[in-house]
Amino acid sequence: MAAIELAGVTRRYDAAGGPVVALDAVSLSVEEGAFVAVMGPSGSGKSTLLNVVGLLDAPDEGRILVGDEDVTDTDVGERTRIRKETVGFVFQDFHLIPTLSAAENVAVPTIFDADPKRDRAADLLGRVGLGDRLGHTPNELSGGQKQRVAIARSLINRPSIVLADEPTGNLDRDTGERILDTLTGVTDRGVSVVAVTHDPAVAAYADRTVELEDGAIA
Ligand code: ADP
Ligand code: MG
Repeated sequence: MAAIELAGVTRRYDAAGGPVVALDAVSLSVEEGAFVAVMGPSGSGKSTLLNVVGLLDAPDEGRILVGDEDVTDTDVGERTRIRKETVGFVFQDFHLIPTLSAAENVAVPTIFDADPKRDRAADLLGRVGLGDRLGHTPNELSGGQKQRVAIARSLINRPSIVLADEPTGNLDRDTGERILDTLTGVTDRGVSVVAVTHDPAVAAYADRTVELEDGAIA
C-alpha cells in the first residue's frame, strides 16, 4: 500500500511578477517503507512538493491520499490532526531548541499532550545511536548527532512518513553516510522517507529518485 499518494497535483502561486506553476500535474506514490529522493534544480518545485506531501500546503488541483483516506478536501484543523499522526519532519539545519537536552528536544512535539512521550524519546535516541547522549544540549553535540536527534524527534508520534529537507546538507561525507544509514533503518520499520536533496549519495541510498523540472516529474 502507498503511505501517501499525489494524483495530478498542481500548485500555482500568484506572484507579483506573474503566475507561477510550482507543481504541474504531479503524480507520485510513496510506498510503505520506501526511501524516495527528490532532486532537481533550484526553483523546480522541491520545497513545494515536500510541503504538499507533508500537508503543510494544499494543492489547487489534484488529490492527496494518506493511506487509503482522501484528505484533499479536509479543513485546516483536520489536516493538522492528520499531519500530526502521519508526518514527521526533519528540517534543514535541525531546528533543535538550544536550551533543551537531546531527550527533551525529541519529546517536544508531545509536550502539550496529556501524556508527553519522555520514555519513547529516550528509546528513539537509543535507536539512532545516541543512548549515551540523552542529557546533552545541542551545542554539546556534533552536526551528525544533532541530525540524528532531529530524526528521532520526527519519529516521536509514530508517523507513516518522514520528510527530510537536505538531510546531509551541511555534513561531511562520513557523517552523511551515518545519517543515510539511520534513515534506511527508519524505512526498515515500514516508515517511508522522502528526502529533498542535491546530494548524489542520498539518491544512491534511495529506492527511487524523482527528478523535478519546472514543477513536473522529468
Ligand atoms: P525548489 O525548492 O526546488 O527550489 P520551490 O518549490 O521553492 O522550488 O519553488 C518552485 C517555484 O515556485 C519557483 O519558481 C518559485 O519561485 C515559486 N514559488 C515558491 N514559493 C512561492 C511563493 N510563496 N510565492 C510565489 N512563488 C513562489
Ligand atoms: Mg527549496
